[in-house]
Amino acid sequence: MANLGYQLVYRLFNSIPGVCCHRAFASAAALSDRMTPVLKPPVVLESGEPLTTYDVIAFSLNYENDLLNVPRMLRAAGLHPLQSRRGDRDPWVIAGGVSVTINPEPLADILDFCVLGEAEHLLPDVCDILSHLRGMPKHAVLQDLAGIPGVYIPQFYQPEYCSDGAFRSIRYIGSGPAPDLRRRIVPSLDAIPGSTVIHTPHTEFPKLHLVEISRGCPRNCRFCLIPGCYGPYRYRSLDSVLNAAEAVPAGWRVGLLGAGAADHPDLATICRELTHREIHFSFSSLHAGRITHDLADAIRDFGPRTVTLAPEAGSDRRRKTLGKTILNSELLEAVERVGRPPMKIIKVYFMIGLPGETEEDLLAITDLCRHMEDRLRYINRRSKTIPRIAVGISCFVPKAMSPFERAPQCAEKTLKQKLQFVIANLRKIRELRWTADVPRWSAMQGILARGDRRLSQWFIESAKPGADWRDGMRRSAVSGAFQPEQKIPLSAALP
Ligand code: SF4
Repeated sequence: MANLGYQLVYRLFNSIPGVCCHRAFASAAALSDRMTPVLKPPVVLESGEPLTTYDVIAFSLNYENDLLNVPRMLRAAGLHPLQSRRGDRDPWVIAGGVSVTINPEPLADILDFCVLGEAEHLLPDVCDILSHLRGMPKHAVLQDLAGIPGVYIPQFYQPEYCSDGAFRSIRYIGSGPAPDLRRRIVPSLDAIPGSTVIHTPHTEFPKLHLVEISRGCPRNCRFCLIPGCYGPYRYRSLDSVLNAAEAVPAGWRVGLLGAGAADHPDLATICRELTHREIHFSFSSLHAGRITHDLADAIRDFGPRTVTLAPEAGSDRRRKTLGKTILNSELLEAVERVGRPPMKIIKVYFMIGLPGETEEDLLAITDLCRHMEDRLRYINRRSKTIPRIAVGISCFVPKAMSPFERAPQCAEKTLKQKLQFVIANLRKIRELRWTADVPRWSAMQGILARGDRRLSQWFIESAKPGADWRDGMRRSAVSGAFQPEQKIPLSAALP
């Protein structure tokens, strides 16, 4: 429920004539590491009915780990996880979201079809065909769906593998011309709704009214999938943002969303207008180079008490190799501009395990944090409190649709060593707090991000009673076929 994309698709479905969309969530038992022998069927929130009474089960998948939950939910609902084992009377099983858009192949044997890119201009066409051809055999309906640009029907494609098991290519085997699989995008954000639909306290971020102010990102960091998956960069107009923000319930904050939010040309004006209307607001993260004096002033009274910066690396030299152009001097200036009370926390994100990383690069992370801490102490030398630095360390995962999509991933054991090294150094800084990714999960995400449809077998084995993802991996022999630690040459195909 904390995901705005999920809520926007919920609203979109319900705005289509003849369509009624309800919500269902995976239970805690279905999401636990090891599958319980008996799972309670997921129940639809609005109707209390089982999932199987619906025509379509649509999954919103935005993180690699979500993929493993699809066969688990299907099994709990009483449906066979394999598409080929479900019949014409069973609901359609479809998916969309970032994970599916960047690489739908891991779920190829499970889904009937998926939607690539943004749903706004695509779902009305899909629903039109599904409702007009309701009751027809699925294979006949799929022929019509294939004509909608952005609809991917895995069973119409045949993968081919090299003798060593590596993925070689994928071939269209359907009838008629090959479908148009280009990712769909909405040209203007002002033409579509972009704020929280369901205001509920039962969510990860309670009392936060989300407003999408931009999509995509005008920058091009080489490890990042946002420009490739959400591009081109688009932003909502000032009036549209303020209108969407006006719907905030009393006592709630507005969350201004968008990976490239800091690049919105009217961001400072938006902040000043919200302040004028006495509406508290926050951001997901800000590009340090865009934190001007004007913006820092505009967020002082009603803005966030936590600001997030993402330098990713500790040195300018290292950052340059990542395509990230922000300098340490600019980061320190940004800290100086926002680092006074009432600001409480400066969150700083770093990434380790990047290609070509050296010990010097890892040491530079602590150096930069120390400089930030010194700067905070200096500017607050007459104050009793100073904002705290909270460091988040993530592990690099080569993502499909990012410039580093073919880069090798650091082995789990090496990642653990690097992490321990960085943490041991960060501990020397007195007031600093840190959190870090679990290297084991990053290793798993590395397989999911670039894997092909042989992964479906892994998911299905992991969804069996008493199994967890490690059992599933062993039983399906997946680990041998995917080697995320190897660089994928340009001559080799990606799924
Ligand atoms: S890491 Fe941030 S700034 Fe860089 S491309 Fe991605 S969203 Fe944009």
